[in-house]
Amino acid sequence: MFLIDCAEGTQVQLRRFKIKFARIKHVFISHLHGDHFFGLVGLISTFRLLGREAEMHIYGPKGIKEAITLQLKLGKSWTNYPLIFHELDSDKPQLLLEDDKISVTTIPLDHRIYTNGFLFREKPGERKLNIEAARAAKVDLSYYEKIKQGFDVVAEDGKTVPNAEITYDPEPPKSYAYCSDTGYFPQIVSQISKATTLYHETTFLEEHKDLAEKTKHSTAKEAAVIAKKAMVGTLILGHYSGRYNSIEEFRTEAMEVFEKVELAEDGKVFEL
Ligand SMILES: [Zn+2]
Repeated sequence: MFLIDCAEGTQVQLRRFKIKFARIKHVFISHLHGDHFFGLVGLISTFRLLGREAEMHIYGPKGIKEAITLQLKLGKSWTNYPLIFHELDSDKPQLLLEDDKISVTTIPLDHRIYTNGFLFREKPGERKLNIEAARAAKVDLSYYEKIKQGFDVVAEDGKTVPNAEITYDPEPPKSYAYCSDTGYFPQIVSQISKATTLYHETTFLEEHKDLAEKTKHSTAKEAAVIAKKAMVGTLILGHYSGRYNSIEEFRTEAMEVFEKVELAEDGKVFEL
């Protein structure tokens, strides 16, 4: 389970929505504005009180280690579990984490301070056995693991059976791109191309484009242009300025450019 950004209310909301947050092993912090990381030291302290032993990895801009450890040091409240910081300062995409199921890479963004988004990419899954075709081809199913890995096998009659004849393609791998906070930054388009789901901040509507430019945030239309250029599956909007009457205005503006738009709200669950 991954946590991306950790504002002051995050811990309260994790409890409210009954998220088993002891399962969080990797925390990704986009940038060091308070609404993206002021909740982190609290979460770290709570884990200590809960008797956590498993290590926790924190990925964030250079300086995050100092910001967190100073608070723990002054409070004489060091964790009794390993806290491992991965400090970032590159303006090129960096591979942060990779295992046999998933990879996580930074998406360098354009904000008032050093900021990264994060791209979560699933690895292609194993092939799926077509059991009827395998039986018909007289393939011994003790080869099951080999078949799923894509190998051809020899049938009982000695004939080689091509893997494609007895398997189906796996589901296409899914990906999730998280992009906040950022001004309009089309340089990210190639990296997030064809992502299953893109979360992109939309602090403002087009009527406040000047403010968006000044504060290096995006408008709903700009987020939709990024989604369209990158040909993503779904665009999720969020990080709305409180000045507007209804967040539906963001969806309406974005949908003039891109069709599949969802609105992020506290507690809402999206399936990729
Ligand atoms: Zn910010």
